[in-house]
Amino acid sequence: MPEGDTVYRAATRLSRALAGRELTRFELRVPKYAALDLAGLTVDEVVPRGKHILTRIGEHTLHTHLGMDGSWQLVLVGGRWPRPDYLARAVLGTAAGTAVGFELPVVEMLAREDEEDAVGHLGPDLLGASWDSKLAVANLRRDPGAELAGALLEQRNLAGLGNVYVTELLFLRGLHPHTPVSGAGNLDRLVDLAHKLIVANRDRVERTTTGDLRPGKRTYVYGRYGKPCLRCGTRIQRGLQGRERVAAWCPSCQPSP
Ligand SMILES: [Zn+2]
Repeated sequence: MPEGDTVYRAATRLSRALAGRELTRFELRVPKYAALDLAGLTVDEVVPRGKHILTRIGEHTLHTHLGMDGSWQLVLVGGRWPRPDYLARAVLGTAAGTAVGFELPVVEMLAREDEEDAVGHLGPDLLGASWDSKLAVANLRRDPGAELAGALLEQRNLAGLGNVYVTELLFLRGLHPHTPVSGAGNLDRLVDLAHKLIVANRDRVERTTTGDLRPGKRTYVYGRYGKPCLRCGTRIQRGLQGRERVAAWCPSCQPSP
């Protein structure tokens, strides 16, 4: 799944391209909306909510999610689409260009006033204006026996973290991925660190949790299975965690609970 910062950047790019512009083309390539055409209406804004993207068009909201493989691409007038036509799920054209959503697993139209039906279940948004760390911590505490990694990935607790951030956070705090929430120590500090890390990367093209932008040095443990820990030299391990996601950790820096 994408991290919240990826979705934030996608929504920001979309908003720059579409907001305030009249739609000259509107196609949702899912059967339910095959006949729906909002051409002639003006896009108000595109906003991220956790890993969801809300495109507000008059009284309507187009709700999309990138899932595992989805992306929104911007194409200038007359330009070639970067991916095959048959993968397109949403096509929003203006006089300036076209925004094409490829392989989006969620494409849904809502009345704008009903947006909460789609995103109301989300916990506080790490990249949102109304980020509430206290509420995020309270949400995590509701299930003290849950595995910490899974609890941090659960978007109902706090919205925006994916595998990269969770894996790196646990390393930075010296916590094994199977640690229960109750054994995580100071949750306020953990959640504040999550917020700092994702905000620091919000506008960056290359994500880093180490502060180093060189290839191979951008993460401590994520994607570094079998390599030496950057802190202590121990080989990074990996294993399954929660819903069959693969976790990576340093057995020395993150001892088993
Ligand atoms: Zn280590």
